[in-house]
Amino acid sequence: MVLTGRTPRRHRLAIVTAFTCAVALGAAGCTGADNDGFRPGAADAGDPYVPGRGNGGYDVTHYGLDVRYDPTADRLTGRAAITATATQDLSRFNLDLAGLDVGAVTVDQARAEHRRDASELVVTPRDRLPRGRQFTVVVDYQGVPSAVTDGALGSGGFLHTDDGAIALGQPDSAATWFPVNDHPSDKASYDIAVTVPDGLAALSNGVPGPRSSADGWTTWRWSERTPMASYLSTLVIGNYRVVDGNHAGRPIVTAVAASLPATGGAAGSLARTGEIADFLASRFGPYPFDSYGGIAVADDRISYALETQSRPVYGPAFFTDDRPNPGVVTHELAHQWFGDSVSLSRWGDIWLNEGFASYAEWLWEEHDGGRTAQRNFELQYAVTDWSQPSVEPGRERMFGTAVYKRGALAVHALRRTVGDDTFFRILRTWTTERAGGNATTADFVALAERVSNRQLRPLLDAWLVGGTAPTLP
Ligand SMILES: [Zn+2]
Repeated sequence: MVLTGRTPRRHRLAIVTAFTCAVALGAAGCTGADNDGFRPGAADAGDPYVPGRGNGGYDVTHYGLDVRYDPTADRLTGRAAITATATQDLSRFNLDLAGLDVGAVTVDQARAEHRRDASELVVTPRDRLPRGRQFTVVVDYQGVPSAVTDGALGSGGFLHTDDGAIALGQPDSAATWFPVNDHPSDKASYDIAVTVPDGLAALSNGVPGPRSSADGWTTWRWSERTPMASYLSTLVIGNYRVVDGNHAGRPIVTAVAASLPATGGAAGSLARTGEIADFLASRFGPYPFDSYGGIAVADDRISYALETQSRPVYGPAFFTDDRPNPGVVTHELAHQWFGDSVSLSRWGDIWLNEGFASYAEWLWEEHDGGRTAQRNFELQYAVTDWSQPSVEPGRERMFGTAVYKRGALAVHALRRTVGDDTFFRILRTWTTERAGGNATTADFVALAERVSNRQLRPLLDAWLVGGTAPTLP
């Protein structure tokens, strides 16, 4: 994620009320456990940065989404087939779903009871699910999708545009267009079919599949086989210039809003996607996904760029003149390794995403003949507020300077301390061993210590969370 200079809106923490019992206590009397141990899954992932988001009691492995969107009526009709495995003896479970009306719900083809509780869809299967059981829940739903109005970044969720829609946003957005376990700790593969009126594009994540048309509607198909965090899913519908190509043996799909210049900064920037991804692969290890791409939208409400998996979405403010902006492309593509392939387990570790993506911008700038990474490090060091920590920055500051720039300082301090060979070996080991999974700051420190055979915790503590300026390495 990169912001375009706008200050994130302040907002209050939502108060979790109805679900506190299940999350905090887990006691039989509180959660309604039976004598034989079957109990409801938690209604929350327990992450204070996203109260109410995520759920417990199961692990999703695959989302099969089939949605139809009519831009004229701003109406979405969807069917989600979600394959999951029970991680406890499960009597009922929750999915996150913001707005929209739910019709039928089945679990393993048997009609299931369901009810809504704010942004929760509570499902009680006919047959209880023993721990380890794989099951498929199918949800039919429809309605007018909603934006996320209390997001940390302003506009997000499902935005109706002049010609279609944009579903996008960090830390949460997915629940505005499909039922989901909406926390990055539960990654899954996706098949996404989107049906829109003929003539409009419908873009999403992963490898493009066959398109088909009938009765004035066209279905676009996308497949993301590598596990994806839900906030990295996107749906962009409208008038776009779509370019299908091939890069390094994989499909590359870029799309620029038709209202943006055909040869302007957006088109010129996205055209460099393959080149920049190759540069990053030379530093971080092989590109982690089966496809490449990018989407440039024209809607001013998207005041940021977001690293949606394999196909980042860029807001228009990054391309205000005719020149390409390789910096923002570098940042979002670096996230494909740091954030998308290796995902955080909890939002308090977001520097693992943003510190490395910010550092990648310094690497690119040096590679491109600009300032060296060392010079950027020195300039940033001089202006850093050491009272703000990179780790556990607080929800209000999860997209703040300490996460991005102080995080990048810590990365460079590590490089200076262990030397280039060991530093890049640490990064490649991280992106290889943790590919497709989740990790924490403690995991990174442990891996860096193992690869370097040095004690690095005091160094990284000082650079990431210490209250005073660390000694320059
Ligand atoms: Zn970012």
